[in-house]
Amino acid sequence: SEEKMSCIGCGVDIQTTDKEGLGYAPPSSLEKEQIVCQRCFKLKHYNEVQDVALTDDDFLKILNGLGEADALIVKVVDISDFNGSFLTGLHRFVGKNPVLLIGNKADVLPKSVKKNKLINWMKYEASQMGLKPVDVLLCSADKGSHIDDVLRAIDREREGRDVYVVGCTNVGKSTLINRIIKEVTGEQDIITTSQFPGTTLDMIEIPLDDGKAIIDTPGIINRDQMAHVINKKDLKKVLPKKELKPKVFQLNEQQTLFIAGLARFDYISGGRKSFTCYFSNEIDIHRTKLEKADDLYERHAGEMLSPPRKEDLESFPPLKRHEFTVKEGKMDIVFSGLGWITINEPATIVAAYVPEGVSVIIRKSLI
Ligand code: GDP
Repeated sequence: SEEKMSCIGCGVDIQTTDKEGLGYAPPSSLEKEQIVCQRCFKLKHYNEVQDVALTDDDFLKILNGLGEADALIVKVVDISDFNGSFLTGLHRFVGKNPVLLIGNKADVLPKSVKKNKLINWMKYEASQMGLKPVDVLLCSADKGSHIDDVLRAIDREREGRDVYVVGCTNVGKSTLINRIIKEVTGEQDIITTSQFPGTTLDMIEIPLDDGKAIIDTPGIINRDQMAHVINKKDLKKVLPKKELKPKVFQLNEQQTLFIAGLARFDYISGGRKSFTCYFSNEIDIHRTKLEKADDLYERHAGEMLSPPRKEDLESFPPLKRHEFTVKEGKMDIVFSGLGWITINEPATIVAAYVPEGVSVIIRKSLI
């Protein structure tokens, strides 16, 4: 009798006749070793991060598994939100295993960012957080650039071991895994469904020549990310998709910029100066006087200052103020998951506001 097949995403029985029905998969997909139903396939593409709920126990199981394995760990971060997507606690779980650090979404960086400077900065930041990667690379899973470099580094560093790919949600891990599958097996769009609701801990394994495998782990939800306070429908707007185009503002003291209704930047003191904003092109920046800023936000958040949407205001965390003094050099104020503002000249006091729970940091300018 015919063997029953089930979706590796949700476990439903696979059928190939009723396109609208539960468990439908196109007949061609039956030849694949791992079959995924259309619903899971679509879920994947709608990027339903908020609905995905692996329990903390499940995460712990995965993370503990990493330490017990003899493997190369490939840690993927979003280079436009390095600190926000880094998962600082992860190194405690990897045991003695080497870590290869991949900065994905390199395509969104302004051309003027120097790649070597950025890689050195990543190495430094990683070491500050207790991680010494065996190598650091940049790639764009979406555009398909430098995937070959990533594969070469994996091949070099794994020394005959399995490979675990880890990262938090939205860093582009699935996109990268699909690129890798395409390169390694020549197949297109086998989808990784490891982070679907209702799944067990099935993980995608891409077989390698020597009997080892590249194993995709479920995306880890990092609750400090901007992505988790933003309506799913707005997420695509907010996450940088293309090269971030600098917008320069000449500001006087006591002026404020609103980054949509998601963040705020007050220029407090330092004379008339220029500030360069790097945010997704679809985010509006609104300038006002500092003394009017509170009132403006009160009255216009959810409409002129949107996202967030009006209907989301109630659950949207209040903006929290963080003050920074720049004594020397050119510095970036980084709004985690959103973008950054370069303070071009020192002797400046500013305040940055982000939703409570989301991080904001200052770093030496990358440009
Ligand atoms: P995952 O949650 O880590 O598996 O992330 P996904 O692969 O679902 O990607 C999250 C979002 O980032 C999607 O909107 C992707 O289109 C986008 N994305 C993924 N890789 C890249 C990349 O290299 N560059 C850019 N600009 N966007 C990317």
